[in-house]
Amino acid sequence: MMDRDRRLASLVSALSEETQAIRVSGDRSPEREHSEPIFTTSSFVFPDAATMADAFVNNSGLSIYARVDNPTVDSFCQRLAVLEGAEACEATASGMGAILSTLMAHCQTGDRVLMSTGVFGATLNLVKNFFIKYGLEIELLSPTDLDAWERALARPAKLAYCETPSNPTIDIVDIEGLAALCRAHDCLLVVDNCFMTPVLQKPLSLGADLIIHSATKYLDGQGRVLGGAVLGRSDLVEPVTSFIRSGGVTMSAFNAWIFLKGLETLDIRMHAHSQKAMALAQWLEQQPQVGRVNYAGLHSHPQKSLIDRQMKAGGGVLSFTLKNGSREDAWAFLNATCLMSLTANLGDVKTTVCHPATSTHGRLDDSDRELMGISENMIRIAVGLESVDDLIEDCERGFAALTY
Ligand SMILES: *Cc1c(COP(=O)(O)O)cnc(C)c1O
Repeated sequence: MMDRDRRLASLVSALSEETQAIRVSGDRSPEREHSEPIFTTSSFVFPDAATMADAFVNNSGLSIYARVDNPTVDSFCQRLAVLEGAEACEATASGMGAILSTLMAHCQTGDRVLMSTGVFGATLNLVKNFFIKYGLEIELLSPTDLDAWERALARPAKLAYCETPSNPTIDIVDIEGLAALCRAHDCLLVVDNCFMTPVLQKPLSLGADLIIHSATKYLDGQGRVLGGAVLGRSDLVEPVTSFIRSGGVTMSAFNAWIFLKGLETLDIRMHAHSQKAMALAQWLEQQPQVGRVNYAGLHSHPQKSLIDRQMKAGGGVLSFTLKNGSREDAWAFLNATCLMSLTANLGDVKTTVCHPATSTHGRLDDSDRELMGISENMIRIAVGLESVDDLIEDCERGFAALTY
């Protein structure tokens, strides 16, 4: 290690987050590379048998095998952990891999899991189609009704799971309030922080026990690769690590490198996404064809004061309904646009648009969709980094296609 690197490492914890997102990483290799290297190797060699035994038996810290650890993945974990204020971080092959690993590590047959209705569609499918088979009891609760969570916690629950803001209805969970209830009832609180990222919201500092990320979204930022992460106290992340290593839902070194690069611009991107989404949301609110606009930056959001306490800005995702609109109207809007990409991803520099009821949430039962507040006339836009004027023009093309 160069002396300069050693001096920087000793003061990195005092640097601002913008700087940490660029400068925190593992050790530079003897090749003196500037950008972090990608270690594309499935295993690692040892100089002698005793050193190998020490790594396998005593966990000496030397890398063994890429399912267990990899220096590029470790660099990503170190950087994200600093940004989230977490003691430990473990990376996974996808966001769903992070959710699967967390539930596998912390729950067992007979445990009760409380889950917000406002979670990612695949998260709900995972618990309803698979964990129920293994004897987990799942109770779905409104993201905005803390009293309902308190009543549910009167019976023992192992884990409470939420996502905030919710997708695509932009309901906000009061993390601090829920964390206090969970702590009083000895229940782990897991928060999916995908929509906000540590730049806009810090669930651990609000009392959550574990954070989930789909790195696929804003941490990458350019829609290239899949990945996920679990963060929190070491004793809570350790069983997750153990599952990931045995279960094999490991992040690849190449993807970790993409996310490392993504984190370097995360701060500037999240603020830009928020500004542009706010401008588009305000414009949408003025349009005669629009019923309701759901965006966490708007004054009209029913949870505005909670938003101001908990989040630094509204992020990039908004949804809106077409006044008196049907599924056909929503599809006509989508089909008439051409700049916004018709795709389900979000967190990309490219703006995406979709009809949640027939895409991201299309496989859920009608009753679940209704419970989640996802109506047939709802459209979701994940605002990228294009000019707002161009996005408005694209929406105008969409509205022009409506026949009423
Ligand atoms: C996309 C997403 C996930 C799942 O992540 P993948 O990387 O697609 O597996 C989980 N939670 C939220 C909020 C998401 O948007």
